[in-house]
Amino acid sequence: MEFKADALLLRTADYGENDRMATLLTAERGKVSACFKGVRRAGAKLRFAAQPFCFAEYVFASRAGRNTVTSASLYDGFPAVCEDVGRFYAAAAVTEACDRLALEGMQAGELLVAAVTALKELCKDEPLALVRFLLSALSYAGYPPEAGACPVCGKIPSGRMRFSFADGAFFCGGCTEEGVPASESTYLAVRAAQEGGAFPADGAVRALRLLGAYFARQVGVGLSALTEYLHLAAMSAE
Ligand SMILES: [Zn+2]
Repeated sequence: MEFKADALLLRTADYGENDRMATLLTAERGKVSACFKGVRRAGAKLRFAAQPFCFAEYVFASRAGRNTVTSASLYDGFPAVCEDVGRFYAAAAVTEACDRLALEGMQAGELLVAAVTALKELCKDEPLALVRFLLSALSYAGYPPEAGACPVCGKIPSGRMRFSFADGAFFCGGCTEEGVPASESTYLAVRAAQEGGAFPADGAVRALRLLGAYFARQVGVGLSALTEYLHLAAMSAE
């Protein structure tokens, strides 16, 4: 049997003499594992399609539950994400999150669109693209973060506040003991990423740290590429 799907390549592992296994994200079938035969040979024609961040229309031959990629037409390989180390880790956080959240055979159209959009936007505004992606990814996973009114008193929180992992929401500092402390700039960055408007640069890294912690708490595993990205951001801020 043969099938075709628009897919984003999430990760690869080389095996055998010249083959490579890949994990791809598709809209209709969720995560798909597939083999690229002979792709590590010099001049292999599918080489371009067998690397992370490649977004293409892939054709798979499926036999006894095993998939082999037989051809691919490139939409975008996002070469610019590999030109800068920070951007690379940001892009790797996107594919890592997809890998953690998507399942085989489960619809993932929303996640695929969010990931491809993020890879495109990363080159314009890296932190904003990453905050937006994490918000979409968390919503896809069933944990949409809310940056609205405080769930206890109904006022817009300001100053020192708290973010509750259980509720996925920001509260005024005095309205709950739950969750972790959060700054106003974190709240404003999440809100701006959701609703548009001015994105506070000083809140971006804090928002990423908070969303990363929320992801780790809810999904049960952290994003190592996001940790690297935040580590680099902290070093360049010094
Ligand atoms: Zn309140």
